[in-house]
Amino acid sequence: MSELASWRTASSSAEATRALAERLAIFAWPGDRIALLGDLGAGKTQFAKGFARGLGVTSVVNSPSFTLMAEHRGRLPLFHLDLYRLAGTADALAGGLLDERQLDGVSLIEWADRLDGPVGSADLEVRIEGAGEDTRTIWLVARTPAGLRYVEGIRGAERVA
Ligand code: ADP
Ligand code: MG
Repeated sequence: MSELASWRTASSSAEATRALAERLAIFAWPGDRIALLGDLGAGKTQFAKGFARGLGVTSVVNSPSFTLMAEHRGRLPLFHLDLYRLAGTADALAGGLLDERQLDGVSLIEWADRLDGPVGSADLEVRIEGAGEDTRTIWLVARTPAGLRYVEGIRGAERVA
């Protein structure tokens, strides 16, 4: 899919990654789908924790690997998915990972790049590069106008900061 815009930043700690995600959550609208991409230990779940904080979620956000999809209540419903263990799209559909309730909330999809098709498709990609040591490079890539809202939003916030 096309790339409408991108933005890059550095993160020096897990909290910095959570704080970035928390700021991005301001721009969330119902139906948004955000892919969280990066190696094991990159910080995808840390990002999800921060995004949840930004939505006012009070339940604990953990790795959803064993539940496949966790739902949290916040300003908008938050659906946290992890496609790591899935063999294919049929698996994901059978597991209920594409649910019409997602249209009312925001979906954060760890390992979205493991599946083609609707289950892994996203408006915004968050690419986290690096693992282990604290420094990460985080790319935001807008794939749709909805994704552009986040990139433009964070750019605007940087300008006034
Ligand atoms: P993933 O979900 O991508 O497999 P996690 O978010 O579960 O990764 O774990 C990331 C690990 O890396 C955590 O232990 C976290 O404390 C650590 N970490 C260190 N620096 C950073 C950073 N800048 N951003 C995110 N996580 C970081
Ligand atoms: Mg994870």
